[in-house]
Amino acid sequence: MEAPLPFPTSLCHRCAAPPRYIQTKTSTFILCPLLPQKYPPQPVHACALFRPKAPEPREP
Ligand code: SF4
Repeated sequence: MEAPLPFPTSLCHRCAAPPRYIQTKTSTFILCPLLPQKYPPQPVHACALFRPKAPEPREP
């Protein structure tokens, strides 16, 4: 079973960047491929680099 995503309210989950989820035994970190510091303080509620990702295609 997949671990629930951390910081469900974070903008990163809906970002086209796309963020990567780094899983350790005890937690999941959100790695941003665009920011120089890589790990923005979570939850991110405003981000100049945020672009909404395309909606996932639905099954017919
Ligand atoms: S660009 Fe901003 S919103 Fe997108 S993944 Fe990086 S920190 Fe999160």
